[in-house]
Amino acid sequence: MTAQIIDGNALAKQVRAEAAGRTQALKARGIQPHLAILLVGDDPASQVYVKHKVADSEQTGLHAALERHPTTLPEADLLARIRALNDDPSVHGILVQLPLPRHMDSHKVIETISPAKDVDGFHVASAGALMVGQPGFWPCTPHGCLKMLDSIGYDLKGKHAVVIGRSNIVGKPMAMMLLGRDATVTICHSRTRDLKAMTLQADVVVAAVGKRNVLTKDMVKPGAVVIDVGMNRNDEGKLCGDVDFEGVKEVAGWITPVPGGVGPMTRAMLLINTLQAAERASV
Ligand code: NAP
Repeated sequence: MTAQIIDGNALAKQVRAEAAGRTQALKARGIQPHLAILLVGDDPASQVYVKHKVADSEQTGLHAALERHPTTLPEADLLARIRALNDDPSVHGILVQLPLPRHMDSHKVIETISPAKDVDGFHVASAGALMVGQPGFWPCTPHGCLKMLDSIGYDLKGKHAVVIGRSNIVGKPMAMMLLGRDATVTICHSRTRDLKAMTLQADVVVAAVGKRNVLTKDMVKPGAVVIDVGMNRNDEGKLCGDVDFEGVKEVAGWITPVPGGVGPMTRAMLLINTLQAAERASV
């Protein structure tokens, strides 16, 4: 079997078109959706990420205001700036690009963002809302993965989904989203004794580890759907995921590539969360 590819670029394009339509509808009501992006320091990867976030927003008609702050910015000043943005009704979403400089407590910074503007979905209130099935903001990466499953019409009800990785921003929220769709969910991590025994039972595998070849051909049930969240570099320095794509695609039914899979969907879901914030603020 050769797996069908779930094309993240093509799907993200559709999501961006949906976002552009919703932006137009808000503008017709006199509302300019507005995302504030705070970048502290000069981490090279972060610079690239925020550049893409601003470009995606502007293309969609959303206003993205990027604020750059020096690495030396005192934490108290960042918190004060976030509070000012919380109080500004023209700002709908606030995103603090991570990682922050060492002298800052990321948790404290994220918790300072108003839950109503937490478009990254990292606030404890957002995590809690997801846990209990209440409206909130879902973190963009797992939300994008769920959209990818929806795009192939995959019915998760009663299926066994194995999530490899248990971070607060990917693995755990992914598991909650899959559970919310009536899948049976197993979460694996670095202490899991026999990962292969778990993944071989899975109808859906989501790999969110950050290590190459965590999932190989011999670990996948024929026909399974494989979602690769990982972002790593191969020996040639090229971007690759956690999944041995060439091997696994011979066994899986569906597979997401890296690049061109989860990455573009993560970016697209940020637009959707920002629009959701603007729409909620305007009712
Ligand atoms: P993380 O916080 O480092 O979490 C990695 C998880 O993998 C941990 O739960 C860890 O277990 C588990 N793990 C490590 N080695 C393992 C092994 N050999 N077998 C099974 N589990 C293992 O990473 P993250 O932030 O969730 O990100 C994961 C990957 O996704 C990274 O490559 C990241 O760059 C990528 N990512 C991509 C996007 C995107 O837009 N495409 C967005 C976010 C993240 P323990 O908990 O036991 O340590």
